[in-house]
Amino acid sequence: MSPAAAAPARRSPLALDPAALRYDERGLVPVIVQDVASGAVLMLAYADRQAMERTLATGEAHFFSRSRQAPWRKGETSGNTLAVEEAVADCDGDAVLLRARPAGPTCHRGTRSCFEPNPAALELGWLAAVAASRRGADPGSSYTARLLAAGVERLAQKVGEEAVETVVAALAAAARPERRGELVGESCDLLYHLLVLLLATGVPPADLAAELVRRHHGPPAGAAGKEPVAGAGPAVSGDSAAAGDPAAGADAAGDRSGR
Ligand SMILES: [Zn+2]
Repeated sequence: MSPAAAAPARRSPLALDPAALRYDERGLVPVIVQDVASGAVLMLAYADRQAMERTLATGEAHFFSRSRQAPWRKGETSGNTLAVEEAVADCDGDAVLLRARPAGPTCHRGTRSCFEPNPAALELGWLAAVAASRRGADPGSSYTARLLAAGVERLAQKVGEEAVETVVAALAAAARPERRGELVGESCDLLYHLLVLLLATGVPPADLAAELVRRHHGPPAGAAGKEPVAGAGPAVSGDSAAAGDPAAGADAAGDRSGR
């Protein structure tokens, strides 16, 4: 590779080697920034090797402005910094993905992402991956592991309870707008427990994504009249002994412990 200037890698998720990247003829590499919480793509910028080294050394995203031909630290004027939690190179090392926590709107227009309007406001794949990573964890410290250990029947019952609580919260929120926060909370509980139930029954979240897209785009026979969010009815029978294991995602920190 190139000259040696050991990257000041601080911790393993940021232990990417700037010297090993393949910069283009301008000495730049494209950097995609993803919101580590939602999975949303926030922005695309370019970095030279120095910017990459600064990013890895400080944990804050640094880039190189092609228009100003100058280095810049994201948020240096706006305050909307990007705290980088993970930095990875792509397959052939000529692009970088930063997973980061934005301190505010990432785009100069004041929007969350540079790619707005963006319908991908609610992404759940990351949450499913976190849940999957808890499989086998100590039930004493992981709420998800506890749920999984309790079995499908208990989990299904739990989803039913959360659904009822969501309904109650929705009615309260409809009558009193100041109670919408409760509906948000109950809805999150419901979605989370549903994802864990899917995990327990061996249904990969990708199957839902594919089905929802299929209902939306393409119609084929039998799907007529179905809406993307239309309920499919409870299906927790003794049927599937299927134990397909949705590939566990990368280990993420902090269990979403709920109650
Ligand atoms: Zn922008």
